[in-house]
Amino acid sequence: MPLVVPFAEDVFTWPSDKPQLIGCKCSECSAVFFPEQSACGRCGSTAVERELLPTTGTVYSWTSQEFLPPPPYAGGETRDTYQPMGIGLIDLEGVVMVEARLTECDPDRIHIGDRVEMVIVPFRSDDDKDVVTFAFKPV
Ligand SMILES: [Zn+2]
Repeated sequence: MPLVVPFAEDVFTWPSDKPQLIGCKCSECSAVFFPEQSACGRCGSTAVERELLPTTGTVYSWTSQEFLPPPPYAGGETRDTYQPMGIGLIDLEGVVMVEARLTECDPDRIHIGDRVEMVIVPFRSDDDKDVVTFAFKPV
């Protein structure tokens, strides 16, 4: 079994039976952000603490990424092997909005307002490692 590693550190809890996105919450104004950052994007306070985010939410909006994204995207595809993917703006239970990959890219299978849950999906294969990322899929 190859080692399964996240595409970046500190984006979601890993390894975990129920991975969660890692955001932060401002102690001053209670604003929540993803990804985690060192200062509040609303009031500028540096009193921010790590906050694990809900794993379910609602599709606020979505689109289809039809062409291979430029770096820093590092999915490992080429222009010839790239398959379009859905990208959604997900409202995580009113806590925070996150932009994320969707497991669906077909307008018949994903809609604004759909309930979704976070899943871990393959991102690319490195020599001896399977690199994974997070996505949201309809429930
Ligand atoms: Zn704040």
